[in-house]
Amino acid sequence: MRTGVIVVGAGPVGLMLALELRLGGVDVTVYDRSAAPTGESRALGFNRRAAESLDQRGLLPRLGDFRWGPMGHFGGVRFDLGMLDEDHSGVLGLSQARTEEALAGRLAELGVPVRRGYEVTGFRETPDGVVVAFDGPDGRGEDTAAYLVGCDGAGSTVRALAGIDAPGREATRGMYTAEITGVAPRPRPIGERLPGGNMVVCTPMGDGRCRIVIHDRSLPPRPDPDTLTFAQVADAWQRLTGESIHDARAQWVWACGNATRLAAEYRRGRVFLAGDAAHEIPPLAAWGLSAGLQDAVNLGWKLAAAVGGRAPDGLLDTYHTERHPIGRRLIRDAQAASMLYLGDADMDPLRSVLSELVAYKDAAGHLAGIVSGLGIRYDMGPGDHPLLGKRMPPDHELTLPDGTRTRVADLLHTARGLLITTPDNDQAARLAHDRADRVQTITATWAPGHDPALDTVLIRPDGYIAWTSPGTDGDLTNALDRWFGTGRGSDIGGAAVAAQPAGR
Ligand SMILES: Cc1cc2nc3c(=O)[nH]c(=O)nc-3n(C[C@H](O)[C@H](O)[C@H](O)COP(=O)(O)OP(=O)(O)OC[C@H]3O[C@@H](n4cnc5c(N)ncnc54)[C@H](O)[C@@H]3O)c2cc1C
Repeated sequence: MRTGVIVVGAGPVGLMLALELRLGGVDVTVYDRSAAPTGESRALGFNRRAAESLDQRGLLPRLGDFRWGPMGHFGGVRFDLGMLDEDHSGVLGLSQARTEEALAGRLAELGVPVRRGYEVTGFRETPDGVVVAFDGPDGRGEDTAAYLVGCDGAGSTVRALAGIDAPGREATRGMYTAEITGVAPRPRPIGERLPGGNMVVCTPMGDGRCRIVIHDRSLPPRPDPDTLTFAQVADAWQRLTGESIHDARAQWVWACGNATRLAAEYRRGRVFLAGDAAHEIPPLAAWGLSAGLQDAVNLGWKLAAAVGGRAPDGLLDTYHTERHPIGRRLIRDAQAASMLYLGDADMDPLRSVLSELVAYKDAAGHLAGIVSGLGIRYDMGPGDHPLLGKRMPPDHELTLPDGTRTRVADLLHTARGLLITTPDNDQAARLAHDRADRVQTITATWAPGHDPALDTVLIRPDGYIAWTSPGTDGDLTNALDRWFGTGRGSDIGGAAVAAQPAGR
């Protein structure tokens, strides 16, 4: 039997997507060209929303030790997260290798094959699927699936094979990064700007390891990044800081540039793009990884519904309509942050104006929404509930009929839709029961103290609020139809549940 979905790339985004698909009941196979995980630490954490996405699948405890901390700067301009009503801190001090290990471990438990040493080299679409060609350990081969997703990173092969354009800005400067042991340079965790538009970062990682990043204006983008040596990195560090790290041992070194690119289409026919394959930005406090994990969580349940034959019309297209504008903003924000971060003294007036602005709670809240990912709002139609289209705060608590207390995040582990309603709202529960294979209904009482008020709420599998009562103009049936498809019959005949008037 053919596979439901082939995912190309076993980076964090491909692994997360495979997990979402498996939870949605799909046979999925992941192909990666590297024979084994690199073990490189790469992005050292992720933002709040990415963490919440893992939390709502029960994955946070698998990540081991990490710390929550403020991702409270935008391009080096600090702002105070403490003045905000909601916690925007992110996950810090967690190597990407450990995130990938945790995801791969869960996939193994679920029996999802991750085929390493297979380089995808081509594909062709058929009327009902895709045939994917690869070079593997036993030579050339093919596999077929209903859909193909390129999670194959910056310079994506799938993107190129699909003929999807990715316009953007070419790199104008190069940067070096390395993970070292044996020598501990002075920490500069959010970067130290140096004269001439240069900057160095040094992030201690524990166990005597440090991550260093060198932004040297005189470095052109390297045409041959794979030939970078640690001696060149150490020379550049000494040139800028006067400190020698030549005696350090390097776990890995990496050269990259400041190019930005955005795929023009996140979907073409049966082919999708997610993660760095869809949006490429310079390494910047794990922004790319955080966005990529959320691409995966947005796409997974929709593609699972399509493979399972239960997707309402247009559902798959909402992956592009929802995530492409976010990719566009990611590129804009990364460019703005890079200008502030890496610009020379000419930027100082702008930095000081911005520093004044972020002393205001609204301005800090706006920037925190960007950095944390909590500012995202998808279009769920008209309504005035402040949470409509936003993510459901995962720590909201409920008391179930048997008296147990639970968090909303814990109710999303199965990656199904979720209708939470109160014991006196039979009609809402009946509508959702009609789609019980797609939407789980929980009758519960909200723990006191949650603001703004919610009576009944429909939450998509990715944790975003599709309908609220009070506060949504359209009725519940429309929202259920739009995201989960029509029911089995009992709601046909007009049993529509309208939202309660706001302010009830
Ligand atoms: C060395 C390095 C260091 C980094 N450091 C930082 C950092 O310090 N801070 C930061 O914010 N970000 C950093 N990044 C960027 C961050 O790691 C990415 O944003 C993140 O990995 C994106 O995840 P992804 O799954 O989309 O792509 P990737 O992690 O790039 O995964 C893509 C996968 O696809 C596989 N693949 C590619 N082509 C094919 C093919 N044709 N067939 C089969 N498999 C294929 C690759 O082997 C790879 O495993 C770094 C990236 C690298 C490479």
